[in-house]
Amino acid sequence: MTETFTGAFTQQEPIPEEAIEAAVRVMRSGRLHRYNVVEGETAEVALLEQEFAAAMEVDFALATASGGAAIATALRAVGVNPGDPVLTNAFTLAPVPGAIASLGAVPVYVGVTEALVIDLDHLADLAKTAGARVLLLSHMRGHICDMDRLMAICDAAEITVIEDCAHTMGARWKGVLSGNHGRVACYSTQTYKHLNSGEGGFLTTSDPEVMARSVILSGSYMLYGRHLAAPGPEVFEKVKYVTPNVSSRMDNLRAAILRPQLARLADQCARWNDRYRVVEDGLRDTPGLTVIDRPGHEAFVGSSIQFLLLDWSEAAIQDVLRRCAARGVELKWFGGAEPTGFTSRYDSWRYAPSERLPASDRVLKSILDMRLPLTFTLDDCATLARIIRAEVGAVWQQKGATG
Ligand SMILES: *Cc1c(COP(=O)(O)O)cnc(C)c1O
Repeated sequence: MTETFTGAFTQQEPIPEEAIEAAVRVMRSGRLHRYNVVEGETAEVALLEQEFAAAMEVDFALATASGGAAIATALRAVGVNPGDPVLTNAFTLAPVPGAIASLGAVPVYVGVTEALVIDLDHLADLAKTAGARVLLLSHMRGHICDMDRLMAICDAAEITVIEDCAHTMGARWKGVLSGNHGRVACYSTQTYKHLNSGEGGFLTTSDPEVMARSVILSGSYMLYGRHLAAPGPEVFEKVKYVTPNVSSRMDNLRAAILRPQLARLADQCARWNDRYRVVEDGLRDTPGLTVIDRPGHEAFVGSSIQFLLLDWSEAAIQDVLRRCAARGVELKWFGGAEPTGFTSRYDSWRYAPSERLPASDRVLKSILDMRLPLTFTLDDCATLARIIRAEVGAVWQQKGATG
């Protein structure tokens, strides 16, 4: 009998009861706007920012309306202007180049390696030739590059690093929490990320001026005194007249939902990794399939898993996708010519044309990607791996997948 999988790849866990109760309290109060407080009250958003800064081991945190809004705010706060080239990953999700384009700035794509990290040799070249003063580094799908080398390249070229930590909230590189290498880090609390408020995000930094500008940019109506994870008023005095309000605040309802989730983040990360390891073990040594080896000093969060079918023909990969789908296993492919669902490629973003990156194209064409929501059990994960292994094996044997 052939096994099929019946779990839902887009089904996250319910919001914890404690968070639901907190949300109901906020709704009963009617005070959903972050600056709407009564005498002696501290807003849920302000408390959340304080807790998030502590959790991420940084000085300052700002909660935003989305991850994309956090990124656009960070780009503005570090002084990106219309027309400026901004380096970013060729392998990332659409809101990343989109945030750059939202400022009228120009994404310049850096390639991806077989380890699914930014190509540091390519970065080193572009750091010299692209004329960019900022790198928006996306830790796409939680793969963290050699951050020591990346920072050395960027420091030498005086390039400011903004980290997109949408997939690395809670991850570490050589013991340092992801987000703490660059000048600013951005996070998303959209439903498919590590915390779930439907929509939402964070920006963190330990740079007082960047934070003051970010708070004003987010739309503080000069109520920055109500922030608990921001610098003192003297820093705001320097920037408040010259920084526009680009409304992108978080509200108290979402903050109330997030605070209890943040308290459990470490446990949730461990649960994701348990699932990741089961799938990874199940896929190892499958002929034709490349598992992504994770460096020992990368403490990642396995909320999704990727593997490569390197140099397989398009038809053979489509066959694997179809066979897996028929058995209930939803794989995303980054090789498709058309952007579908959440997957798109640098050449799909035609508002920001690029040179072809042949080495990256080879990798992108081979990437299969699978979500691992916490609603999946460890047994589910073993089933998923067995199905993928069997179907990849069948196609590999039948037609010889390459060519
Ligand atoms: C989700 C995501 C974002 C942006 O998040 P939104 O909250 O959806 O705006 C940015 N980068 C990556 C890699 C993401 O996956």
